[in-house]
Amino acid sequence: MKAATVGHARELPHAEYKIDALLVTAQSNVRYLTGYTGSNGMVLWTADSMTLFTDPRYTIQAAQESSCAVKIARGPLHLAVAQSIQRRRLKRIGFEKARLTYETYDALKQALPLGSSLRPIAGYIEKLRMIKSPDEIARIRTSVNTNSQAFASALSHIRLGVSESEVAAEIEYQMRKLGAQKTAFETIVAAGERTALPHAQPTDRTLRNNELLLIDMGACQSGYTSDMTRMLFVGKPDRNTKSMYQAVLNAQLAAIAEVRPGTTAMRVDRAARRALKPAGLDKAFVHSTGHGLGLEIHEAPRLGKKDETRLEAGMVITIEPGAYVEGSGGIRIEDTVLVTENGCEVLTPTSKELILL
Ligand code: ZN
Ligand code: ZN
Repeated sequence: MKAATVGHARELPHAEYKIDALLVTAQSNVRYLTGYTGSNGMVLWTADSMTLFTDPRYTIQAAQESSCAVKIARGPLHLAVAQSIQRRRLKRIGFEKARLTYETYDALKQALPLGSSLRPIAGYIEKLRMIKSPDEIARIRTSVNTNSQAFASALSHIRLGVSESEVAAEIEYQMRKLGAQKTAFETIVAAGERTALPHAQPTDRTLRNNELLLIDMGACQSGYTSDMTRMLFVGKPDRNTKSMYQAVLNAQLAAIAEVRPGTTAMRVDRAARRALKPAGLDKAFVHSTGHGLGLEIHEAPRLGKKDETRLEAGMVITIEPGAYVEGSGGIRIEDTVLVTENGCEVLTPTSKELILL
């Protein structure tokens, strides 16, 4: 894919940060800017140029995918970048401080010409990536639909006696058959008391009668992720399980009702927490209400207690409140949601009813 069809407004933050160039090293950011999907790449971005540095393994791929100048380096990329910096007499070089290892930072610093220096930049491209282009939204929509279809197809394989691992394997197989390249993250399948672990890894624990099953799954298709959590119950849920499910569903709906341009991430989070209070479950909600997603499964903004980011049309976020009680179990309901001009659109088509097996 050529980046021109994917990304959004791109302006080098050179004025804002007083830098002559930004060195981009996070692969997701490299992909966002250039379209290049290889595993080894750096981008040097100046006010009037963008150059992708990669190695000879990617000569053909980089030319096919990227929309900018490509430099094939025969040695370490940071040395080729340093040479380019010298040749172009660039002085202040911004780098992604959360995305560069200390080792590469140190090596780059040593290789820089006299008079050039490195300036830490935090989350600049991540901020651009928060607002998705129409093409990115289309890709996320496809990924979300694949994810939901995979869930529906896997459902008939979920029954008494199957293990968490088998359920995860079936889900992932269905995803791939439906066009996903891979999962967006390690599929979470948790049965019974293990549902109290928000990030349980699937084990050989088998599904028993009268217990909950939590499935949190995501596809990665055309580079873009999706994320959904649904709950199943084997048998007939008791009153306690039903009321806990209803409380989490109320929280999820309350949070979705708060999603619109101009509101803040923390206000969405607060809506979910407030809705859990009457059931006494606000303390059992131990994570944030959601996160942005796109090229990566966890992107800005984070919908947490203290995130003041204002939501804008074009953001894609998850809404996933949960309640976890040690010894008995946990419940989480998660959708992928697009912020629109007037409010939001829940992209996930799967029903939110507790699924009875
Ligand atoms: Zn999830
Ligand atoms: Zn999530």
